[in-house]
Amino acid sequence: MPDDGLPTATVVLKPKRARPFFGRHPWVLDSAVLRVEGDPADGDVVELATHDGTFVGRGLWNSASRLRVRLYAFDATTRLDADLWRQRLEAAIALRRSLGLDDRTGACRLVNSEGDDLSGLIVDRYGEHLAVQVTALAMARRLEEICDVLQALVAPAGILLRGAERGLAKLEGLHLADRLVRGTAPAGPVFVHEHGLRFGIDLAEGQKTGFYLDQRDNRQAVARFARGRRVLDMFCYSGGFSVTCATTGGARSVLAVDSSAKATALAKANADLNGAASVTVEKADAFEKLASLAAADERFGLVILDPPKFSRSRATLDDALRAYHRINRAAVDLLEPGGILATCSCSGSVAREDFLQMLAGVAQRAGRPLQLLECRGAAADHPVSVSCLEGEYLKCVIARVA
Ligand code: SAH
Repeated sequence: MPDDGLPTATVVLKPKRARPFFGRHPWVLDSAVLRVEGDPADGDVVELATHDGTFVGRGLWNSASRLRVRLYAFDATTRLDADLWRQRLEAAIALRRSLGLDDRTGACRLVNSEGDDLSGLIVDRYGEHLAVQVTALAMARRLEEICDVLQALVAPAGILLRGAERGLAKLEGLHLADRLVRGTAPAGPVFVHEHGLRFGIDLAEGQKTGFYLDQRDNRQAVARFARGRRVLDMFCYSGGFSVTCATTGGARSVLAVDSSAKATALAKANADLNGAASVTVEKADAFEKLASLAAADERFGLVILDPPKFSRSRATLDDALRAYHRINRAAVDLLEPGGILATCSCSGSVAREDFLQMLAGVAQRAGRPLQLLECRGAAADHPVSVSCLEGEYLKCVIARVA
């Protein structure tokens, strides 16, 4: 692979398929490609051109992925070389510093893929350690130089590579095992601060890269509605919402539920760590637990729903919306009059409008009006490129039930 960052081949688009890329969308699907002039190796720099030869952009080639080219530049002079990666990483880290988030005792996302013009690369800081997730083969090939830059810019105690979600990795033809890439691994859980609270994070085995950083500000926003209320935190994972509601939020009590034993152990440990004695943690399936709470005529003042992805593609959208309807309807039925529903969706294929329509259906079926109080997304260290709205996956709606 030449490292001068210059194209080794030209990828020619089918007629009428260039518009998204003139609009700086970075994903060129195989179905948009007419032919390839040259013989690029996977990970090589390629030029993208229209069928009649007009320059479109520069990107990295992957024959194993449906996402054939990822674009990183839209002019014919930028080299996709080590200097460019360094500049982009510097810009990404400078943004977090300007937000006051790049704190050695805290946790934040330092690099958010397309949102930072680094398609396929995610870097999270957990205290003194970095967790890197690579979802593009071309980024995997450049892992060493990226880690060199990260080491120089943030001097972490260690950098860990976390494999991409299994589905994603397969799509990209990536076979990356979790491993330590630089420095030392933490001996046990890593402890970080978030809005004045402390959380223990399992970097080796935790979900995502260890913690749901995207929900940081939503945990605080939701907790503002918790005062004096009985709270149900469904799909609690490591207890972020529960602990925030029980402490700063002043909830009367919190029931935190997750079907994973690892998650409930983390939630319990984090409740203890913050002296949140009003949190009860239970391992249960959400659908069953919602049904049994309803059968027992239980009522809550605040119900939080933060389920895993119900849909991975537009194809399963209807099934996903039905599942969202079901749990949200069950949550509304458990809410006392004037109660608060904090409901989230991290399925990128479920558009914000679809999600709100689903909630309208819930209000109609339940015969109880829902007032939207806040419609939120991910925290500011998860920037989204306006040219790649696929990055806008998280919805967090706070609503009041009549
Ligand atoms: N709110 C959490 C993140 C939740 S992630 C936070 O702020 O950190 C989604 C969680 O749902 C995961 O922990 C997963 O274990 C859990 N989960 C998945 N399927 C479930 C089910 N059927 N019932 C209960 N929990 C489930």
